[in-house]
Amino acid sequence: MKLYAPSTIQQIRERHNFELSKSLGQNFITDKSIIEKIVAGAGIGADDLVIEIGPGIGVLTAETAEAAAKVVAIEIDKKLIPILSETLREYDNIRVINQDILKTDLNEIIDAERAAGSFCGGVKIIGNLPYYITTPIIMRILEKGVAADSITIMMQKEVADRIKAGPGGKTYGAISVAVQYYCTVEQVVSVPKEVFIPRPKVDSAVLKLGVREEHPVELIDERAFFACIKAGFGQRRKTLLNSLTGVNGLSRDGIKSVLAKTGIDSVRRAETLSIGEFAAIANEVTIYSRR
Ligand code: SAM
Repeated sequence: MKLYAPSTIQQIRERHNFELSKSLGQNFITDKSIIEKIVAGAGIGADDLVIEIGPGIGVLTAETAEAAAKVVAIEIDKKLIPILSETLREYDNIRVINQDILKTDLNEIIDAERAAGSFCGGVKIIGNLPYYITTPIIMRILEKGVAADSITIMMQKEVADRIKAGPGGKTYGAISVAVQYYCTVEQVVSVPKEVFIPRPKVDSAVLKLGVREEHPVELIDERAFFACIKAGFGQRRKTLLNSLTGVNGLSRDGIKSVLAKTGIDSVRRAETLSIGEFAAIANEVTIYSRR
């Protein structure tokens, strides 16, 4: 069955009386080459476990099942579960879970699949994410320390641009620094809005986030690092001296002293700082607040 074909999607919708939900971000891919590029870009090996977020009618799930040892697909919409049973019936290496990804313990799933012997390789996360929860999903996976090697996901192009941005531009922000702290970032493919049913308002891009074994900077206290990022970008037009005042309870004089220690000019703005500079400031903030 050509699950990506618009006619197939239409037949499935009619047969199952299935209405696409805008609020669940249900825009289905209709281009086989994009699906192949996602699977190839994710670097899935024959011994791997793949966790797919939001399988929809199973278009990416089926292609992934051809490449992986096991696929666990997590879909929130219970109306899609009987559809997935039908569209994926020829595969014996797919498990569909009807659950909200934001309430799912992925490490529990990984441990259970490993214990059951369903894979002996790595763990890859893939998905074509609903735009409204892209950032929470990515940050939850990274902050929870999910034991995955990579996360290859389609998202709104603007979000992809922000995640991969470096210092100096308007697109560089808290999400760029946070994701790049945990991951290497590589764009797999850009995806025009025309390849979806229904057509969204914006274009998309697929990023591969390679989960780092070691962070690129050494931190005394990770919380201070994220507090600096949040404060710095929370008031991104302000100078560092102004935006960072109050971080970890530090006064303006405290921040002045921290910045002097790092040699970073206090009139600079957060959007000009590299991850290394954020780390240097955070470490001095930690040292200062422990005095
Ligand atoms: N993978 C399919 C494709 O590419 O054609 C569907 C992608 S569609 C953009 C997003 C899918 O994620 C939908 O099937 C939607 O129901 C599901 N979804 C939305 N929110 C979710 C959540 N919190 N947890 C799990 N799945 C979710």
